[in-house]
Amino acid sequence: MTTADLLSQFRGAFPTSNPNARRVASALEAPGCHRRTVLDASAVNLDKLGALITGEAKDRQSPFAITRGNKFETSVTDNGMATLLALAREHLGLSIPEARQKDLSAAAVREESPGLSHGRLNERRALLTRQYVKQMLSAPMAAVNLLRHAMTAIDFGGKVVHLEQDALAFAVDGRIHVTEIKSFACIDGQADPEKASATVRQAAVYVLSLQNLVESLGASRDAVDTRVLVVLPENLTFRAIGVVVDVEMQVRRLRRQLAAVPRVVDILDGVPPGTSLPAAPGDGALAEQVQSARALAREALSHLPPRFGDGCVSCPLFKSCREEASDQSLVTRLGNAVAGLCGGVTTINAALDLSTGRRQPANASEAAVAEMLVRSANAFAYALKVG
Ligand code: SF4
Repeated sequence: MTTADLLSQFRGAFPTSNPNARRVASALEAPGCHRRTVLDASAVNLDKLGALITGEAKDRQSPFAITRGNKFETSVTDNGMATLLALAREHLGLSIPEARQKDLSAAAVREESPGLSHGRLNERRALLTRQYVKQMLSAPMAAVNLLRHAMTAIDFGGKVVHLEQDALAFAVDGRIHVTEIKSFACIDGQADPEKASATVRQAAVYVLSLQNLVESLGASRDAVDTRVLVVLPENLTFRAIGVVVDVEMQVRRLRRQLAAVPRVVDILDGVPPGTSLPAAPGDGALAEQVQSARALAREALSHLPPRFGDGCVSCPLFKSCREEASDQSLVTRLGNAVAGLCGGVTTINAALDLSTGRRQPANASEAAVAEMLVRSANAFAYALKVG
């Protein structure tokens, strides 16, 4: 069986959701997690899986927010992209006398090549993206200079993951510039810090995948500008404003994190043959059916070791993995800083026993951890005494 077959077998009939840059960035926030790596590589719908195993449905984005977001994107991209072009000229200093654009969205490519399966459609879009980027680099004055909904790819644990970029790429003078349109407001010059940092991480994934693409075409990765134009509505209006963010540092970090993603094929080696997620219970499912699916999902997940840590908060499986770490009394439940200090001592009880001398260190590294814990316990006791 190929890795793709094994992943498909593991996913079984569970619903899918295609990986996107936001999901990849979120996965990389929790490095080394075998569970998450396989779930991402097999395109399992994480929100639905999280809802099934925790029993708590994820808050859906309000229809009002979705409509508002769509309206804003349309206002930025209609009229031949007039608004967007003006912002790119102003904020990126690009001289774009005329836009020669190409839409590589699934709908547009399906219209040109009907009858393609989902997988083949992605491959077709990735191939077209590659061809247009090649022309952008070799003949920028004649090539398409504005690519919408490009499809790029990254290697995620040895599995090629296609990324649909809802961003736009401008090519000017042989350089490619990424633009991202977001619908959260910039109020009095300030955007929501959480949304802003998620946007930066997402844009960094786009830049990195485009850098990989241009390198595979024989060009330098510097052909992709790390300065990204983020377009946002100003205050509560639909007036678009542009903010330029340099994501170079994030791209370098992502590159290191991607290189450290565990190999999917090695993880699957440890999964018993035939392990599979159940079908997701439908809306009208009885409580017993939901319970049964939950138990089957937990059983399948138990073969994928989690690596709980601070970066897990954005993962839809967070509550379930946190509960697991608590049940097993793992030091990771206390956060990365404490887990880092405890080194190879993985349970809270073992750490407490070492700190009180109830347990003798088994080796030099445990002795170092014990010494540090004893010193911390003494400092804590002293602080209580004088405090
Ligand atoms: S919450 Fe669980 S599955 Fe998600 S990254 Fe953390 S340990 Fe992995």
